[in-house]
Formats: sequence, structure tokens, C-alpha cells
Amino acid sequence: MTDFAATKDLFHLPEGIVYLDGNSLGPLPKTAAARVAKTVEAEWGQMLIAGWNKAGWMDKPMSVGNRIARLIGAEANSVAMGDTLSIKVYQALASALEMNAPRKVILSDSGNFPSDLYMAQGLCRTLGAGYDLKIVAPEQVHDAIDETVAVTLITEVDYRTGRKHDMAAITAKAHSMGALTIWDLAHSAGAFPVELAKAGADFACGCTYKYLNSGPGGPAFIYVAPRHQDRAQPALSGWQGHDAPFDFDITYRPAPGAERMRVGTPPILQLAALEASLDIWDSVDMNALRRASLGLTDQFIAGVEAACPTLTLATPRDHKDRGSQVSFRHPEGYAIMQAVIARSVIGDFRAPDILRFGFTPLFVGASEVDAAVATLADVMANDLWDRPEYKTRKKVT
Ligand SMILES: *Cc1c(COP(=O)(O)O)cnc(C)c1O
Repeated sequence: MTDFAATKDLFHLPEGIVYLDGNSLGPLPKTAAARVAKTVEAEWGQMLIAGWNKAGWMDKPMSVGNRIARLIGAEANSVAMGDTLSIKVYQALASALEMNAPRKVILSDSGNFPSDLYMAQGLCRTLGAGYDLKIVAPEQVHDAIDETVAVTLITEVDYRTGRKHDMAAITAKAHSMGALTIWDLAHSAGAFPVELAKAGADFACGCTYKYLNSGPGGPAFIYVAPRHQDRAQPALSGWQGHDAPFDFDITYRPAPGAERMRVGTPPILQLAALEASLDIWDSVDMNALRRASLGLTDQFIAGVEAACPTLTLATPRDHKDRGSQVSFRHPEGYAIMQAVIARSVIGDFRAPDILRFGFTPLFVGASEVDAAVATLADVMANDLWDRPEYKTRKKVT
């Protein structure tokens, strides 16, 4: 059992803040600064280039990937770290399309994060001739998988509504139609237990700066099912994914296993910050995390619905359909969120009308939920949002 009262103390959270945005940028683990400083001073500073061997930098993308694997139900050595999530989406898509030729259809849904769709559109344009991204409503994904689909590109939890897809059911349907699956775990990894191997997922990817607290710009991960690892051809065939990078062979030959999905030099300082966070994650019971998360989201939904009748719940009530965030709709959502943030309860806004609150039991408990409900109720009941300074959109919302 994880003691969630104790884990809160492992994060640096500014005094007086209720932080409900760990689903967008996780907070700073208290040990991260010292861990990064050690990597900078004792490794980079003292070892210089020897750090690649002596400090194990070269192995970090796979050794850190193995620590992520437990959180997402992945087999050992099937997760590689590096680059950004957008890049990892592109890599998974390119490999899956090549494996499932001559099919040319990528199936996704309109609730997917735009970058995933943009990467698919860009790849289709590059490939040309008949490659197509088909976008359906989230509820239609299961039925839309037919024998023309090469690969599904689905983000398990909708970044706006928090709606959660049934990974096992969609994967089974895809396989029955001869399609491959790519699961984007941006709002799943660290949010609840994920069972990639059990579901039979083919590829997955995700980021680490959200629920996994690696800090802004932390590296992404990619999962390749063991049965595909030696067949998946990397489209971004960089030297670090070569079988023998230091042979400096002029012809590309992919490394065995998921390591072939490495591209270039890994971000060692960001990986050090991520390792500090994974020290915390190593001790977390994912089933206990899920129970605590559902308790918090239930509490928030009940509190807000009782106190704020003009906000409309956008998140599913059914636990099995819910991630670890709660969203409400309101036409003045942006101004409302600015007013709430000004009162030290941090959530965010997603166009056109979504107020989004993330719940992370590692550092959010029942008293923070009560405080957030009270603040939102005050802002709504007294129209505190109706001021010009809350209506000017900032660059990041
Ligand atoms: C956060 C998020 C991204 C962001 O991609 P980056 O390349 O890391 O900026 C992509 N896809 C989804 C589904 C996300 O939630």
C-alpha cells in the first residue's frame, strides 16, 4: 500500500497553492535539483566525455525505459526513452504503416491531441499516394475499424474531457480486422495502471513531464511489443538506434529490440530529473493510485455539481470511462479559470470551453479537493471571473 499522505512531502509545492495541473506539468520532486546537480557536477563536470561509459549515460534510454515499463504494463526492454512525444508518435506510425502495407489508412478520433493528428497528416503527405488519416468521433472508433485500416492512433484518455477508451476492446477489434494499434499514453502513464502487454498493444508512446514529473521538456517514451521489435523499421534511423553506433558504418542497420527507436544523443540532464521522480514512482502501488484517484475525482464532481449549477460536467461519470482529470464546460471557461488561478487553485483551460483539473494522489488529497471546490464555488456564485484582466488570453492557456 502506498501512503499518499507521505508522498506529498516528496514534492516541492509552493506554499498555499492547490495544484491541479500535474496532468499538464508535474511538480518538482524535492530530490530532482540535487540529482541534476550531481549529474552536472560529478558526472559532466568531473568525467567529461567519459561519462558516456562511466556514468552509464549511453544506457539511460533503455535503463530508464525499464523503470517506466512497470507503470504501463510493458515487458522488459520494450520501452526506449528520448525525443518528444510528437516524434515518438511519428516513429510508431511510420513503422506500423510499413509493417501493414499495402493498407494505407490511419484511424484516429476527433478527441485526439492535435499534435498526434498533425504528425499523421504530415506523414501521409510525405508518403503520398493514397495514405490517409481518417478521423471519427471517439465513440465511433470501435465500429470504424475495418479491413482497410492499417493502424489505429488513439490517445487512451481524451486531453479535454478525460474520457478513457477501452484499450483491450479496441486492440482486440483492431487485431480481428488485421490492423495494428498505437496507444498514446500521455494522460495514462502515471494516472492509473496501464496493461500494454495484457491488452496486446502493438505500439505505445507517451510523455514524462505530465503525471511522471520529469520537468518541462522531459523526454518521451516509445513502446514496441516484443513480437514486433525485430520487424519494426525505424523511419527516423539515427545513429543511436544503429546496431553498433561506434562502428560508424555508412549503412544503417537497426539495433535489435526496441533500442532501434532511439534516434540521437539522449537528454542526460532531463533523464536525471526523471530518475529522481521515478524513485518516488518505484514505491507506488498503481491499483492503490487508481482507487485514490477515483475517490478524488468523485469528490470533486459531487462538490462542484452541488455548488456550481451553471458548469456542465464533460467527464464521464462511469469509473471505467474516466482518466484522472475532471473537466467542466462553460462559455466563459477561460475567464473562470483565470479567476480560479488568481486564487491559487491551479488548473488550466482548453479551447473552446473546457475547465480542466488534474488529480494526482501523490500530492493531492481530500482537503485540496475541498479547497478547490470552495474556490470555484466562490468564483461562480459571485461572478468573480467577470473582469477584463481575466479575459485576455495568454500564449499558454
Ligand atoms: C501532451 C501531449 C502531446 C505533446 O507532445 P510533445 O511532443 O511532448 O509536445 C502529444 N500528444 C498528446 C496526446 C498529449 O497529451
